[in-house]
Amino acid sequence: MHIKRLEIAGFKSFVDRTVIHFDHDIIGVVGPNGCGKSNIVDAIRWCMGEQSARHLRGRAMEDVIFNGSESRGPHGLAEVTITFDNSDPAYAETIPPEYQAYPEIAITRRLYRDGTSEYLINKTQVRLRDITELFLGTGVGTKAYSIVEQGRIGQIVSSRPEDRRLFIEEAAGITKYKQRRKQAERKMELTRQNLLRITDIVTEIDRTRASLKRQVAKAERYVQYRAELEDLVLHDASHKLLEHIVTEQVERGAHAEASAGVEQARATLSVSEAELDLARQEALSIEQRAEKASTSAFEADNEVTGLGAEIERARDRMSHLLERQKSAEAEQEEIARRLGAWRTPSVKTTPSPSCAPKRRAPTRRCKACAPRLARPARKPPPPRPGSKPTRTTLPSSKSGATS
Ligand code: ATP
Repeated sequence: MHIKRLEIAGFKSFVDRTVIHFDHDIIGVVGPNGCGKSNIVDAIRWCMGEQSARHLRGRAMEDVIFNGSESRGPHGLAEVTITFDNSDPAYAETIPPEYQAYPEIAITRRLYRDGTSEYLINKTQVRLRDITELFLGTGVGTKAYSIVEQGRIGQIVSSRPEDRRLFIEEAAGITKYKQRRKQAERKMELTRQNLLRITDIVTEIDRTRASLKRQVAKAERYVQYRAELEDLVLHDASHKLLEHIVTEQVERGAHAEASAGVEQARATLSVSEAELDLARQEALSIEQRAEKASTSAFEADNEVTGLGAEIERARDRMSHLLERQKSAEAEQEEIARRLGAWRTPSVKTTPSPSCAPKRRAPTRRCKACAPRLARPARKPPPPRPGSKPTRTTLPSSKSGATS
C-alpha cells in the first residue's frame, strides 16, 4: 500500500492543518533539529493505531495534542488522516474484501483532550480492531517494518530473535493468519467456557426440571380447576341471569298491574274528590240554610216571646174588660132596677134571653144593649220599638189561646 497523502492538525508541533503529499517514489523531509521531522513519523504511527505513548516519545497519550507555544494557546483536538492509494488490484487483494473496491482508503484518528478517541475509515466510524485488521499482512502497521525511523535499523539488528521473528513473519505475510489463528483460538476458548457454562446450566436445569415438572403438573391442575371453576361460575351466572329475567318479567307484570291499580285508584280518587266537592258544596248550602233557619228560628223565638207577652197583656186586658163588663152589667142591672122602680109598673123592659151577657160576643144584639156595645174598640197599644207587628193568629202548638 502506498501512502498518498498525510493530513495533520493539532498533532504535536503541527497546530495548523498541514497536508503532506507523497506523490513521488522518493520523498525527503529535511529541516533543522527540532523542526518536527520525527513528528511526521509519529503522526503516521499514531494514526495507524499506536497505543504506546512511549513509542510516540511522550509520557501520556494526551501529549500528542498541541500543547501551545509562546504565541499560541493549546489545542483541544489532535487529528491525523493517512490516505492510501488502493487503485492497484495487486495491493487491493491484500486488504479485507469490504474495502477492496475503494480507490482510496483514508484512515483517520482523533483524540480530544478529555480522552475521547475516534477511528474512521473513509469517514465511517470504526473500531481500532478494524484498522489493525486492515493492515495485517500488508507490512504497514505500528509493529511492521514499513516505518523505519531513526535508530530503528540498529534496534532490529540487536533485537531478540523472537522480536526479529515478528518482522520476518510480517514480511512473509503470515502475521494475518497468525492473528486469525489467535482470534480463532480465543473464540474456541470462549466457546469452551461457554460450553462449560452451558453444562453447568444444563445440570442446574436438570435439577430444577423435576421441581418444574411438579410445578407444571400443579399449574395444569390449576388451569383445569380454573376452567372448571369458570364453567361453574358461568353456569351459576346463567342461572342467576335466567332468574333475574323471570323475576324481572314477573315484577314488570306486577308493576303494570300496580300501575293500572294506581290509575284506577286515581280515577276513583278524582271521582271521590268531585263527590266530596259536591258534598262540601251541599254541606255548605245546608249550613247556610241551617244558619238561615237558625236565624229565622231565633227571630221566630223572639217573635213568640213578644207574642207571648202580648197575649199576656191581652189576657190581662181581657180580664180587666170582663171585670168592667161585670161591673157595667151590675151597674146596668142596678140602673134597670131603679128605672123599673121609677116607672112602676109601666112597661117592664127586660132584656131578651138572647141579650143575656155572654162571654163570647153576640152575633145579634137587642136594642137595649146595642148602644152600649156599639162603643168603638180600644186602640191597641203602640208597638214597642224594635218589636214586630203583632199577629192576629198565634201558633196553636204553643199556647192554644184564641185572639
Ligand atoms: P531532531 O532532528 O533533533 O530529531 P526533529 O526535527 O525530528 O528533531 P521533532 O523531534 O520531530 O524534531 O520535534 C520536536 C519539536 O516538537 C520540539 O520543538 C517540541 O517542542 C515540539 N513538540 C513536541 N511535542 C509537542 C507538543 N505536544 N506541542 C507542541 N510542540 C511539541
